[in-house]
Amino acid sequence: MPASIVVGTQWGDEGKGKVTDYLADQMRFVVRYQGGNNAGHTVVAEGHLLKLHLVPSGILYSHLTSVIADGVVVDPGVLLEEMDTLSGLGIDVSRLVVSGNAHLIMPYHLELEKVTERHLGKHALGTTKRGIGPAYADKAARIGLRLQDLFDPKIFREKLEVVLKEKNLLLTKVYNRLPLSADTIVEDYRAYGERLRPHVADTSRLLYEGLRAGENVLFEGAQGTLLDLDHGTYPFVTSSNPVAGFALASAGVGPMEVDRVIGVTKAYVTRVGSGPFPTEDPGPDGERLGEAGKEFGTTTGRKRRCGWFDAVLVRYAARLNGLSEIFLTKLDVLSGFPTIKVCTGYVADGETFEDVPPHQSLFHRAQPVYEELEGWDESLSEARSFGDLPPAARKYVERLQDLAGVRIGVVSVGPAREQSLPVG
Ligand code: GDP
Repeated sequence: MPASIVVGTQWGDEGKGKVTDYLADQMRFVVRYQGGNNAGHTVVAEGHLLKLHLVPSGILYSHLTSVIADGVVVDPGVLLEEMDTLSGLGIDVSRLVVSGNAHLIMPYHLELEKVTERHLGKHALGTTKRGIGPAYADKAARIGLRLQDLFDPKIFREKLEVVLKEKNLLLTKVYNRLPLSADTIVEDYRAYGERLRPHVADTSRLLYEGLRAGENVLFEGAQGTLLDLDHGTYPFVTSSNPVAGFALASAGVGPMEVDRVIGVTKAYVTRVGSGPFPTEDPGPDGERLGEAGKEFGTTTGRKRRCGWFDAVLVRYAARLNGLSEIFLTKLDVLSGFPTIKVCTGYVADGETFEDVPPHQSLFHRAQPVYEELEGWDESLSEARSFGDLPPAARKYVERLQDLAGVRIGVVSVGPAREQSLPVG
């Protein structure tokens, strides 16, 4: 089992951190492949509840090397802060490696994202305002600064001055803000560079050598398939590609190395921020899912919108990612509902869809077609095998598997590792 990819099949927050934890023993590398500090894993480390935004959750395991790959955008201040918190808890961060090709989030990215979101008014995307979208935009425009630039002060200042000239014009003339000082940025980023230097490496080569030596690599996606820049509900998406294929492009690893793509799927659905969500339940049931599932964002603390399992989304994610199996999380949250709704397809403009409609307007208007499955009263958190689950819960899982068309390999009934139940 050389390389495996863990990918969210919905709108993120599916519990991907738990899957990494479940598989960590078998791995040698855990690789974060997209996004920035807009993601969030809630993990328990040394008895502390810890929110990691950028450092891969693999850092908690002393046998693992944690890698931040080329396709991630890095706010060096935030990265160092996270590393300091981890070190403070006695966790060894010397095994964290960052690609020199990763792009830097700069102070003007944060500033510009804030003002452009404000400018969009009611059309605001609801971004996390961490500068991630603007950093990816500059990368595509070929005016980004990369981690490796920190180690050549002349180049760093030269590139910064070119780009800052334009950014400061935007800030002052368009948005009526104060300009940023190149000297301050140079000073701050030089200090970041000094501290990060021991962690920066050719990560593609490191992974290549690991794979050649038969070591296992886990690629850890952030966000989820429906937030993918190309394949998600654009423009209400993230500014990178969470889909499994991007793990390879980002890390510089060939596709033949991967033999497992694990889709992490919540037993219901949540979404943060704006955008279509056909199975959203704005009523008391949705409220109850949110309470029982503690559905508040790791990065923003925002309340997540909640609704019912949507087989259309998971079939779509199975296709886009080539899922080999599903890890179904948070089944325990559904205890106590007399019946549970499951969306099998959509109706939009009188037409029935079993797949995501081909036009965004249809998706916005899509009404879910539900079937109702029998619920269960029992708490599931004590179950230690799939057979321990009440029959209605097992039937629910089997029905989800049929609808998704992908094998459900493990069902999760709580945050702890032992609350992961292999199926069949
Ligand atoms: P991620 O970004 O996909 O890792 O998701 P989050 O960290 O935002 O959300 C996962 C949260 O749900 C974490 O607090 C986990 O400890 C918790 N969690 C994971 N699996 C389960 C489960 O099966 N049941 C319950 N109740 N909580 C879970």
